[in-house]
Amino acid sequence: MAIPVFAETPFPPHKVAGNLYYVGSVEYASYLVTTPQGHILINPSFEESVPMIEAAVTKLGFQFTDVRIILTSHAHGDHIAGCALARKKTNAKVMIMSGDEDLVRSGGVGDFQYPDSRFPACAVDRVLKDGEQVKLGTAVLTAVLTPGHTKGCTTWTLRVKEEGRELLAVIIGSPNVNPGYRLVENELYPGIADDYKKTFARLKALKADLFLGAHGAYYGLEEKYPRLGRGPNPFLDPDGYRSYVESKEQEFLGKFAAQRKAK
Ligand SMILES: [Zn+2]
Repeated sequence: MAIPVFAETPFPPHKVAGNLYYVGSVEYASYLVTTPQGHILINPSFEESVPMIEAAVTKLGFQFTDVRIILTSHAHGDHIAGCALARKKTNAKVMIMSGDEDLVRSGGVGDFQYPDSRFPACAVDRVLKDGEQVKLGTAVLTAVLTPGHTKGCTTWTLRVKEEGRELLAVIIGSPNVNPGYRLVENELYPGIADDYKKTFARLKALKADLFLGAHGAYYGLEEKYPRLGRGPNPFLDPDGYRSYVESKEQEFLGKFAAQRKAK
């Protein structure tokens, strides 16, 4: 797999809010949820990203070897290719949403859109169902199935405490209809359009306080980060969340309508 230039370029690791931290690169978002009983890593990204993520965790004052659970936004290489390496380094349990687990186990075999895409296969220790919780110490994450982009695409939600307030963090799995995605008569993913519709309904139903996602670009990381610590938390952005989801839904509906018309 070609490694995009931003895979190893660290973004300054930082606290998002409470016990939720950003440990990803400029382009590919990775998060650390810390607890006294160990940590949860969301998105090991590329294999080449793992040392960078490890360095980010260390820089924040935590130990990478204290990662107990590895999760992902969805089983595309840019979020999961480093999973096997991260699991080996930490002995963490890998937990993947039903629908994406075979892609992770096989290293990308059977992807409905990218049949030739391959990444290092990784064992899956637990297959998650929609709405299931992942608990570690005091941290409780909920796996919200938001399929379409992949069959097991997962939006993670968790409650974090900051300055006496409890905030709902929403890490969007992906609302994107990639170039080449067939929303109509897709034999390898017959329910894709209905899945996207369900995804948008679910994302709209979430009352997000902290707006986050699988890529920093989803939520304007580069623009928001410089404002951190200077006034209100820039990631606290319920309006930005709503308008992002609405604009992505419009994008999906436009592509769906165009593909139906072309049939
Ligand atoms: Zn993707």
